[in-house]
Amino acid sequence: MSTLVTGGTGLVGSSISQGVKLSSGDGDLRDWNQTLELFDYHKPKKVIHCAGKVGGLGGNMNYKGEFYYDNIMMNTNVIEASRQVGVERLVCFLSTCVFPDDVEFPLTEKKVHLGEPHFSNYPYAYAKRMADVQIRAYREQYGIEYVTVIPTNIYGPHDNFNIETGHVLPSLIHKCYLADKNNTDFVIWGTGKPLREFIFSKDIAKLSEWALDNYTEDEPIIFSTSDAVPIKDVVDLIVEYMNFKGNVVWDKDKPDGQYRKPSSIEKLKSYLPDYEFTSVEDGLKETVEWFYENYEVLRK
Ligand code: NAP
Repeated sequence: MSTLVTGGTGLVGSSISQGVKLSSGDGDLRDWNQTLELFDYHKPKKVIHCAGKVGGLGGNMNYKGEFYYDNIMMNTNVIEASRQVGVERLVCFLSTCVFPDDVEFPLTEKKVHLGEPHFSNYPYAYAKRMADVQIRAYREQYGIEYVTVIPTNIYGPHDNFNIETGHVLPSLIHKCYLADKNNTDFVIWGTGKPLREFIFSKDIAKLSEWALDNYTEDEPIIFSTSDAVPIKDVVDLIVEYMNFKGNVVWDKDKPDGQYRKPSSIEKLKSYLPDYEFTSVEDGLKETVEWFYENYEVLRK
């Protein structure tokens, strides 16, 4: 059965082990006619929809209009085109950013729509929430088993290493590289105390492929290791793997961000109790190696 992977050149899509992988060069998924033409041409039976406008705090804060428009158009078009060409199974990505800002922890699948998302990324969050609404509506009207998944902080090869718009781990790797190259301090915002749940892109890819064939609930499923790691620990690993010998400076006048954002993996564990996640040590090592090997061509 043929599979189509949108966003096949990105952090998650490049790790998916099956299917035809699309990039934005194959067609602009914000455009309905191009999207339908692509889906009509490939006639997939399964879709893993990884395409999106994705970024860290800087990207979300500075490009709010684009984050809303690009994501809502891509999701709406991909889900509707899938329905029109008879796609039987589809996995769509939400994110833990979709959760309300003021919500009781741990985050669970039932809490997605319980309040306003954080002000810094509400356009991205609302656009993503609408994918959940669209899929729920399509399931009820058309009886199709499309599903949504909610990953925590993904990292790995093929990430966006831009310091302004990338996520925290790739930005830190790039910052450390530049500090080493320019003989400057490696300066990091905050205290390093906040805890984050990082998950390696290859684990997300495997779990998404599992969901494509096995997950059928109308509620999303959270993909996380539930292992919260202090930012300071990942900085120590980056410094070690990049052999950085300069000063690491914590700029404590700068904000730390939310201290913790724990998510529940009870549902994931109920399906895959023995799944072995890549450790942050192994995942980061592979990411740093990929970063050096691909520095000239990677997103930065
Ligand atoms: P990514 O690395 O930024 O890749 C985005 C992909 O989307 C690229 O292949 C890109 O193609 C494609 N794309 C962007 N705009 C497009 C357009 N207008 N038309 C067609 N394709 C387009 O993203 P990712 O990190 O793999 O994210 C995958 C999914 O997981 C997204 O839905 C994201 O919201 C979600 N997610 C990510 C994280 C995270 O930490 N990264 C966390 C939670 C959820 P080009 O290469 O050609 O530009």
